[in-house]
Amino acid sequence: MSVSIIKCNSYRECRAGIDKALSLIGGIEKFVHPGDKVVIKPNLVSKKRPDSAVTTNERFVHEVIKITEAAGGVVTIAESPGGPYSAVLLKSLYRTCGMERAAEGTAAALNYDTGFTEVSYHTGHTLKSMPIIDPVLEADVIINLPKLKTHAMTSYTGAVKNLFGVIPGTHKAELHFRLNDRAAFCSMLVDLCERVKPTLNIMDAIIGMEGDGPTSGMDRHIGLVLASASPYELDLAASAVIGYAPNEVPTVREAIKRGYSPKDAAKLDVMGESIEKVRIPDFVKPESHFNLLKLIDLPPALNALVVEKLASRPKIEYDKCVSCGECARCCPPEAISMASGRPVIDKSKCIRCFCCQELCPKSAVRIKRSLLNRFMVNFLK
Ligand code: SF4
Ligand code: SF4
Repeated sequence: MSVSIIKCNSYRECRAGIDKALSLIGGIEKFVHPGDKVVIKPNLVSKKRPDSAVTTNERFVHEVIKITEAAGGVVTIAESPGGPYSAVLLKSLYRTCGMERAAEGTAAALNYDTGFTEVSYHTGHTLKSMPIIDPVLEADVIINLPKLKTHAMTSYTGAVKNLFGVIPGTHKAELHFRLNDRAAFCSMLVDLCERVKPTLNIMDAIIGMEGDGPTSGMDRHIGLVLASASPYELDLAASAVIGYAPNEVPTVREAIKRGYSPKDAAKLDVMGESIEKVRIPDFVKPESHFNLLKLIDLPPALNALVVEKLASRPKIEYDKCVSCGECARCCPPEAISMASGRPVIDKSKCIRCFCCQELCPKSAVRIKRSLLNRFMVNFLK
C-alpha cells in the first residue's frame, strides 16, 4: 500500500488537494463503485465550531461527499461522539460542527439512526466482540476522515483512533473503564479498526491541533492532505510529520507489532511530498505525553510505581468551569463528584483516560504534570 501527502494551504483549495491525494493512490473509482452505500466518518469528537480545529472541517467533508457522489456512491455521514447517542444530540452536533452545511448541495444524508449491534470479532487480540453503530455495519464502503491532532491519552489521534466514534455513545466509557491501561486500550482500537476495515482514509491535516488535544489544544497550520487505503500506514506517516517516533504512539506501535505497517516511516511508500520535507519538529506534544517506554528496563513492579508517581493528571480550572457536570457524567470510573456543586476529582479512582478533558465544553480541564515528571522528561531527553 502507499500514502500520498499533498501540500494544501487552505480549505478554499482543499478540493484540488484531495483530488491530487486520491489520484496518487489510484483515484476514487478504485474505492467507490456506482450504487455503493458509503458512510463518511469525520472526526466530530464534540460539539465545536468548524473554526475550532477540533473537528474535520466542513468544507473538507463537503468536497469528499462531492467526489464520492461523482463516483456513484450514496453517502451518509455518521458519527457517535462521547455521551448519550441520541437523534436530538446528533442534530445539535451536526449543526454546530458544520455538517448540515457540508451536506448542502449534495444528496448526502446525516445519520439519525441510533441503532447499534454487538458484533463478534473472534480474532481480536483484546476484544472478541464490540458494539458498532448500524450505518457503519450496513455500508459497502467506509471513508474515514480523521483530523491530525494530538491526544491526551493516546498522544496522537488520526485514522485508527477516529474509528472509536463508531462505538455508540456511552459504550465508549465502558471500554475506557474495562481497558484502563493505555496499551490495552490502544490494542482495542486496532481490533476495532480491523473489524471496521475502512476502505479509504483521507486526513484533514490543513489546520490541525497541537498541545492538549483532541479538544483543548492550539490550532496549528500544517497545510497537508494525506490519503491511504491503510489507516495504519497513514497514521505512521502523519505521526512522523508531527515529530513522533513510532513507539511514542501506542496505536502505531501496536499496528507495527501486528505487522500491519512497516516498522518506521522511512519504509513507507510515500507519494507526493516526502515526510522529511514537510516534518514539523516543533509540533507541541500534549502535557500527558511522556516517553515512559524508556523505563521498560525497570522491573515491572518498580516501573508501575514510577509510572504512577510520574503520571500526568486532570486538573479542574474552576475559573473556567460552569458546573455543567459533563465531566462527571462522562467519567468512566465515576471519579468525579458534583456533590458540592462543582466537580471534584477523586485521584484514587482516576484511571487517567482524560475523557473529562476531551469532553469539557469549556476547556476547563487541564492536564497537570508533577515537578518530578517534568524533571524526568528533561532528564530522559
Ligand atoms: S465539564 Fe468542564 S465546565 Fe462542566 S463541570 Fe466539568 S470542568 Fe466544569
Ligand atoms: S477524572 Fe477524568 S481522567 Fe480521571 S478517570 Fe475520570 S474522566 Fe478519566
